[in-house]
Amino acid sequence: MNKAIASPGRTREILDKYGFTFKKSLGQNFLIDANILDKIVAASGIDETCGVIEIGPGIGALTERLAQKSKKVAAFEIDGRLIPVLKDVLGGYGNVSIIHQDFLKADIRKTIAEEFQDAGDLLIVGNLPYYVTTRMIMKCLTEDLPVSRMVFMVQKEVGDRLSAKPDSKDYGSLSIAVQYYTVPEIVTKVPKTAFMPRPKVDSIVVRLTKREHPPVGVADETFFFTVTRSCFAQRRKTIMNNLMHQMPGGKDKKEEILHALLQAGIEPERRGESLSIEEFARLANGLYPVFG
Ligand code: SAM
Repeated sequence: MNKAIASPGRTREILDKYGFTFKKSLGQNFLIDANILDKIVAASGIDETCGVIEIGPGIGALTERLAQKSKKVAAFEIDGRLIPVLKDVLGGYGNVSIIHQDFLKADIRKTIAEEFQDAGDLLIVGNLPYYVTTRMIMKCLTEDLPVSRMVFMVQKEVGDRLSAKPDSKDYGSLSIAVQYYTVPEIVTKVPKTAFMPRPKVDSIVVRLTKREHPPVGVADETFFFTVTRSCFAQRRKTIMNNLMHQMPGGKDKKEEILHALLQAGIEPERRGESLSIEEFARLANGLYPVFG
């Protein structure tokens, strides 16, 4: 039995064997600390009935651990150089499918239908590449996938934004989207030394547990997120100003915007960062007939 992939020695051995060189442009920082893997796996609450979608398996450090604990793993890797490595290194596991695709472009529903017909709970797990972290999280949230939980390793600065509350510097449209669909929790901080090569910043593991129902009722989800993004477009500007300049045709709808703000009980000179998710929902519902 080989040693676990997540150790400096075995990772180096695999990299040397395949002559693999890291691509910074793909956010390739591989985990070499088995304790962190244990924490990710424990936080995801995986058991042998679960199906797991992994984003970005790298050389398989996390994939290996997920395969040992779950029924089935389907792992999306964009870098073609890693496909033969993964197939070789994880060859002993009959419950792993390696999918050579850009996760952002992949049809995840189709993969779920093909790979997980008889799995119990479905999870998405990944040590996310930092250059597309928020786009990946947004894809997982907005595609209405039959997933119970997500556990992600992200840069600490992004992790802080996911669970941020109003009136804090980290609070923004990403916080609102994540908290609309899930309950976010920070699992653990991860030092730079847990990766090869070492990134410039510390990381954090977060668990996002899907809500059964959103915490607020909105007339149209896409429109709700358009409004929240508009209100944070220029953080120093008032909501009124942002809405007028960011919403399509907003400059000609000053009166209607003002009316919707007052109806929602929101002073037009407040800034986006002071609004709760309930206030954003009231505002978006009031603006929907104006712009929707
Ligand atoms: N899971 C491995 C680990 O923890 O050691 C590797 C994590 S590394 C931070 C991110 C991985 O995501 C890399 O293997 C990279 O090639 C892959 N990746 C980057 N962009 C991707 C994309 N758009 N779709 C799928 N995989 C991607």
